[in-house]
Amino acid sequence: MGKIGIVGSGVAGLSAAVHLAAKGHNVTVFETNHEPGGKLHSFALGGYRFDAGPSLFTMPHLLDSVFEAAGKNPRKYYNYKRIDPGCHYFWEDGTRFHAHADKDAFAEAAAKTFNTSAAAVKKYFAQAFELYDITEEVFLKSSLHKMSTYTKLSTVKSMLQLYKARLFTTMHDVNATMFKDEKLIQLFDRYATYNGSDPYRAPGTLTVIPTLEYRWGTFLPEGGMHTITKALYQLAKDVGVRFHFDEKVESIQTKEGVATGILTAKGNYHFDKVVSNMDVVPTYSRLLKEHTPPKSYLKQERSSSALIFYWGMHRKFEELGLHNIFWSENYQEEFRQLFEERNIYHDPTVYVNITSKHEAADAPADAENWFVMVNAPYIAGQDWTQLREIARKAILEKLSRVLGIDLEPHIVAEEFLDPPRIESQTSSYLGSLYGTSSNSNMAAFFRHPNFSQSIKNLYFCGGSVHPGGGIPLCLLSGKLVSQLTG
Ligand code: FAD
Repeated sequence: MGKIGIVGSGVAGLSAAVHLAAKGHNVTVFETNHEPGGKLHSFALGGYRFDAGPSLFTMPHLLDSVFEAAGKNPRKYYNYKRIDPGCHYFWEDGTRFHAHADKDAFAEAAAKTFNTSAAAVKKYFAQAFELYDITEEVFLKSSLHKMSTYTKLSTVKSMLQLYKARLFTTMHDVNATMFKDEKLIQLFDRYATYNGSDPYRAPGTLTVIPTLEYRWGTFLPEGGMHTITKALYQLAKDVGVRFHFDEKVESIQTKEGVATGILTAKGNYHFDKVVSNMDVVPTYSRLLKEHTPPKSYLKQERSSSALIFYWGMHRKFEELGLHNIFWSENYQEEFRQLFEERNIYHDPTVYVNITSKHEAADAPADAENWFVMVNAPYIAGQDWTQLREIARKAILEKLSRVLGIDLEPHIVAEEFLDPPRIESQTSSYLGSLYGTSSNSNMAAFFRHPNFSQSIKNLYFCGGSVHPGGGIPLCLLSGKLVSQLTG
C-alpha cells in the first residue's frame, strides 16, 4: 500500500480519499479553503442558513455505498428523508403542477394537467429506466478509456444495446416525439440542466436523467445538503485520512513522466500516487506547467453556470415547497441566449429552493431561506455586475407576478454567487457547474479520463472528468480512481 496525496476536498476528493484509505492506503488531502466540500458548503447570514451550491439530492444509495466501502454504517453518520411532491412547477398562464414522487401518481396527475395520457407518461418513464439500465455499466461504472472495460461481459452486453441509447437525436426531439403538450416537453427538457447542458443540442441519451428521480426519488439530508460534506469528512477522518486545510497545491511534482509528489507554500511532500480533484483544466495549466496538456479533452465546451441569490425572506409562502420552478415563456430562446449569446435570458426560468420548509432551524420563525437560481453562461468576457443587476430585477418581477405579491420588501438578508465567484472559490474553469457540457453525442467519450494518459501515477476525480458533474457522478469518480490505482 502506498502514500497518496489528493488535491482538493470536494465530494469527489472525499469519496476518493475514503475509498483509497479503506483499501489500506495512507491518504492526505490538501485543500486551499479552510473547510472541506468545495461547491457543497454552507453559510449563515442574518439568522438564516443557506446551502451554497447543490440543492437536489438523488441516488442516496451511492452516498451510502461510500460508507459501506469503508465498513461503516451510513446511518450513524447521516439521515435523509424522501421529498413528496418532488417539485412545484409554475407557469405564467396560471398553470401549476405539483410533481408527485411516485411515477404512477405523477403520470395520473400529468394527464389531468397536460394534454397527454397517463399511459404516455408511464411509457416515457419505462423507456428512461431501460435506457439507464443499458447505459449505467458503460457510462457510469467503468472507465471509458481502458481496454479492459470493453472486454468485460457486462460491458459487452450494454454495448450491444447502445443502438437504443438515442445518441443521434436530441433530447428535445425525443421529448417532442413522445408528447404534444409544450409544457410537458419543457418539463422533461429541463433535465438537461442537471448536467449543465442544452436540451436542444444534447443527445436523446439524456432522457435517462428522470430515472434518478422517478426510480429512486429525491431526498433531503437532515440538516440540509451540507450534511453530505460533514458526513463524508467525518468518515474520511474515521478511516485515517489526514487533511491540510488552507494549503493550496502549487504544483504536482513529476520525475521522468511519473507523478512523485505535491508542492505547496508549506512544504514539498512525496507521494507514490497523486489524485487531482481540482478542475482538470487548471490542474494542467497551473499545477503541471511543464507538461503538454491533452488538448482534445480540454477544449470541450463547458457546461452552463448559474447565478444565485440567497434571500432571507421575512415571511412564509404556503404555496411553495422545497423545490420550485417558475418557467420561462420561451425555453428555446433561453438556451440559445445561454450557449450561443453567452447571456442570461431576460425571461429566465427561475428555481427557488427553500430548505426551511423541512429544516425549521434554517430560518427564523415565520421566515424562509430562499436559494434563487437562474441558468447562466460560463465566463466569456461578460460584465457580471451588469448581468447580475438585470437578472435580479427580472427574477423579482417574474416571481412577484406569478405569486401575486411584491417580493422585494420581504427580503431582509441577501448574498449572491455568480460564475466569477464559483471560479475563484473552487477553481472551476470558467465558472461552469458541471465541468464539460453534454451538448454533443460524443461528449461522454471526450470527457477527461480518471487517469493521466501521459503521466504515470496521476489520477483525476470530480465534476470535470469522467463520468461527469453532480454529486452522484462525483462520488462514482472517486470510486473509479480507487479502482484504477489498484
Ligand atoms: P468541487 O466542489 O469543485 O471541489 C474542488 C475542491 O478542490 C474545492 O474545495 C477547491 O477549493 C479545491 N481545490 C482546487 N484547487 C486546489 C488547489 N490548487 N489546492 C488545493 N485545493 C484545491 N449537483 C447535484 O448533484 N445536485 C444539485 O442540485 C447541484 N446544484 C448545483 C448548484 C450550484 C450553484 C453549483 C455550484 C453546483 C451544483 N451541483 C449540483 C454540482 C455539484 O455541486 C458538483 O458537481 C460537485 O459538488 C463537484 O464536486 P467536485 O468534487 O468535482 O469538486
